[in-house]
Amino acid sequence: MSALPLTSRAACGDAKTALREPCVLLKLGEIVLKGKNRQQFERLLHDNIRRAVHGLGIRVQIWQREGVIVLRLADGQTGQAAEAAADLLAGRMRNVMGLSRVCRAVRVAKDPEAAAAAAVELTAGRHGTFAVRARRRDKRFGVNSSQLATLIGARIQRAHGYPVNLSHPDVTVYVEVDQSEVFVFTEGLPGQGGLPVGMSGRALVLMSGGIDSPVAAYRMMRRGLRCGFLHFSGMPLTGPESVYKAYGLARELDKFQAGSRLFVVAFGRAQQRLATSGAGRLQIVAQRRLMLKTGEALARRLHAAALVTGDSLGQVSSQTLANITALDDAVKLPILRPLIGLDKTEIMAEARRIATLQISELPDQDCCSLLTPRQVETRARIEDLRRIEARLDADDLAEELAAAAQEHSPARS
Ligand code: ATP
Ligand code: MG
Repeated sequence: MSALPLTSRAACGDAKTALREPCVLLKLGEIVLKGKNRQQFERLLHDNIRRAVHGLGIRVQIWQREGVIVLRLADGQTGQAAEAAADLLAGRMRNVMGLSRVCRAVRVAKDPEAAAAAAVELTAGRHGTFAVRARRRDKRFGVNSSQLATLIGARIQRAHGYPVNLSHPDVTVYVEVDQSEVFVFTEGLPGQGGLPVGMSGRALVLMSGGIDSPVAAYRMMRRGLRCGFLHFSGMPLTGPESVYKAYGLARELDKFQAGSRLFVVAFGRAQQRLATSGAGRLQIVAQRRLMLKTGEALARRLHAAALVTGDSLGQVSSQTLANITALDDAVKLPILRPLIGLDKTEIMAEARRIATLQISELPDQDCCSLLTPRQVETRARIEDLRRIEARLDADDLAEELAAAAQEHSPARS
């Protein structure tokens, strides 16, 4: 080991060698594929990262490096409080769309010994086999990648006694030599993947208090859509319970985008009007069309370019192919249905993972349970629906409902 050239150590001096700064390294997901628009996407991602940590009271600095983002505590703080702050930042980053991995890292002086010391510390208390992977973004570093990996591997083995396994290690230590420092980290934790929120534009999610629509919202945020939420309550014919649920759901989903907006429409009277217009077996589909029309009117005000629903083909009688076709006819905006091909069990597993399930399972009186016909039409005919709508000027009604929507801010920070 002592045969390795340690020239850069001498160049760094003692003060720099003492550098041991906690930080978070963020690996980019699909964003890396985006060619010449990449800079714009990176800026969006940086904005989203700032939004996600806003309210933590931690000042941060974001550095864009080749293929990775370095999230630092401003002024390069060190010590126990800084370690805890970096942990908190890493936790928040796990919900930021567009990041494939989140790695708590240490930033040390550009010196092999400093990197080895950090690696030894980072791997304390781990189990099983390990490997070291080193790379240099700065090729002028005095030690080449394999020498560096060998040096650090030997130090870890001496300190902890873990066996080396280069093909299937339990723990991988990454060492990345950059322009003016070295980053040392283990494999970290998976991020959300997907694309940065906002990269694909805006959408309005029709969100009931149920299980499906929050999952649909999550999926579309993950594909880069900034989502607003629109909830229809049965008020004044029902209590406000479903509104509380929608609020709770939007708040939970806000961790993925920050700055969420929730709009609530009291839909009970409009449902009554549909019933008295003779909707009969078409009541449910007619209600859903009116929801979509209201959504479209609101989307125009919000500059949202699509509606999102939690429909899944055939899951309930209003979701037959014929009925879905009749729903599409109600509006010009595209209706995105990310759950169309999923089973309920798959949707529930995802709802559990993103922590919306426990809110969706709270009891409420959904507006759709009001005025339910004894038999629901499974093959709605578009002409019949249009005839019902003509009797109550559905488009005007939708405009009025959208204008009367109450806005809430379920954002966390
Ligand atoms: P969910 O679990 O999302 O309520 P669901 O399986 O109960 O869905 P439906 O009740 O037929 O199915 O609703 C289908 C979709 O219509 C929902 O996913 C949602 O996008 C929209 N929707 C239904 N009810 C409401 C509501 N009260 N407010 C807003 N959107 C609604
Ligand atoms: Mg529902």
